[in-house]
Amino acid sequence: MENHLPLLNDFKFNELIEVPSVGQAGGMGLLKAVSEVLSESEHGWCARHILANWSKDWRGLERRNNFWSCARASCVAELNFHLDSLNMLRNGICESLLRYNKETWCRAYFNCDMKCDIIDNNICKTFNAWILAARHKTIITMLEEIRVKMMERIGKLREFADTWIYDISPIAMKVYHDNMAQSMRCTIKWNGEYVYEVEDTSLRVVLKHCVNMQAQTCTCRSWMLKGIPCAHAITAMHFKNLNPINYISHWYHKSTYLKAYSTFIQPVSNMQMWTTSTNPPIEPPPIKKMPGRPKKKRRREERRN
Ligand SMILES: [Zn+2]
Repeated sequence: MENHLPLLNDFKFNELIEVPSVGQAGGMGLLKAVSEVLSESEHGWCARHILANWSKDWRGLERRNNFWSCARASCVAELNFHLDSLNMLRNGICESLLRYNKETWCRAYFNCDMKCDIIDNNICKTFNAWILAARHKTIITMLEEIRVKMMERIGKLREFADTWIYDISPIAMKVYHDNMAQSMRCTIKWNGEYVYEVEDTSLRVVLKHCVNMQAQTCTCRSWMLKGIPCAHAITAMHFKNLNPINYISHWYHKSTYLKAYSTFIQPVSNMQMWTTSTNPPIEPPPIKKMPGRPKKKRRREERRN
């Protein structure tokens, strides 16, 4: 972590993980707090923010696309291939990118236990934008508006599950169908037991992966990272007349989805409906004017290539 400290001053950590820093100002405090409080947890840096910082010096669509290929590569061999392609674009370009610890933003180094390979912080940004109007109100009004929004949202998301064609989430099915299309470009060799050698020609470099049907692993790591069979595993399953859809992780099943939204937020009547209390009213604290004008606009990257 120390190797990356010079970069922290210009890094938008408050946007990366919106947690108040503890003890020290800015990103240094946040990094320290995250590693101390959540020492056992894997934590990543948002690839979109790394790109925003890195691309200030390295602009251009081709570099940008190469960056995303590096971040999304699921195994080290694929990452190295994309890093080599990036290196051809300019001397020193790779070194400058690798100053950001690759283990925190390259999928190739992510832990496979979570079945989640998200490399950006979009979900948090979207939620914050969704509650933006409420965030600038007083505390009770803010909490009340967020409560009502969440109450309605849980109902809508439960209804959404009724529109699913399969018992698997539509986004997982899209990944599955993409992998299925990619599997058409794979060739397979079987060792006679439960391990398969699958050659994938869908990239600019031909990679040969080993699929182990007993351990349910593939050396591309995509199957373990996502919990959705990769193109290579699908090739092996078709070879053995197995239905790959049965191997999609239970995290994407409708029953799991509905379990997440099984608790409802109960409606609350407004203040006029409350019974009158005989206790003395609680006085508000004295108003203290904070320095500066409150921010209303979301901060975005200054430049988007
Ligand atoms: Zn694979």
